[in-house]
Amino acid sequence: MKEPIIEAENLSRIYSMDSVDVVGIAGIDLNVEQGEILVLKGESGSGKSTLLSLLAGLDRPTSGKLKVAGRNMAKASEKDLTRYRRETVGMIFQNFNLLPTLNVMENVTLPGLLAGRSHSSVRKKAAELIEWLGMESRIAHHPTQLSGGEMQRTAIARALINDPALILADEPTGNLDSRNSARVMDLLEKIVAGGKRTLVVATHSTVADRMATRQICLKDGSLVRQRPARALPQSPPAANPFSQDWHKTRN
Ligand code: ADP
Ligand code: MG
Repeated sequence: MKEPIIEAENLSRIYSMDSVDVVGIAGIDLNVEQGEILVLKGESGSGKSTLLSLLAGLDRPTSGKLKVAGRNMAKASEKDLTRYRRETVGMIFQNFNLLPTLNVMENVTLPGLLAGRSHSSVRKKAAELIEWLGMESRIAHHPTQLSGGEMQRTAIARALINDPALILADEPTGNLDSRNSARVMDLLEKIVAGGKRTLVVATHSTVADRMATRQICLKDGSLVRQRPARALPQSPPAANPFSQDWHKTRN
């Protein structure tokens, strides 16, 4: 059997606040295969963002085991984690987190340039992603000149610029109306179609329930419910941004 892309065993992150322990997550066991869509549910404060931060290599477990894409996340060096965040992970946030002084093209290209790739190759890839996301006419706009849906599509392009194996999205539709929410969820589904990419998304969206290959619900940092994995689709849908002819099937 293939090695899972995410393996968590008794995973915990306890925050120490003035000598008081606050549970972020506690005792999570989880296995996710490449190509899956894992949906995280749970009320505010249940530990979804904590788990995503650990998966993103932005934070470290306080105990338990976490292996992501072959890396021991507790023991990896800072240098290795920086590289991991740049090359393996694409993150999407509720508040978009675009840099206000940069335009759409500059926001999207920045992580590619930080990864040391050539300016021309990064710009080419950014232009393709921006076109696929229907944002060509906004390429020189700054974030304040964009709608919420446009800001999130820009953030999606930015998350994809380094072709990451793992997409992590923390309530990506939390600030969007229902039409834009549906569009963003649809884009996320297309991005992982084909089985090479894995998506972990924390969301209250019911659209996500249909997409999920696996769903877990957190409560006070613990896993209270898990909907087991369903089989992955055998053939990728037509519009896949990472197949060679994705631009022809753009909708
Ligand atoms: P969710 O994303 O599901 O709303 P979080 O992961 O943000 O939940 O929070 C889980 C728990 O951990 C909450 O009780 C929260 O207050 C606490 N927590 C989160 N981040 C920190 C932090 N940096 N320091 C201290 N406590 C934190
Ligand atoms: Mg959160």
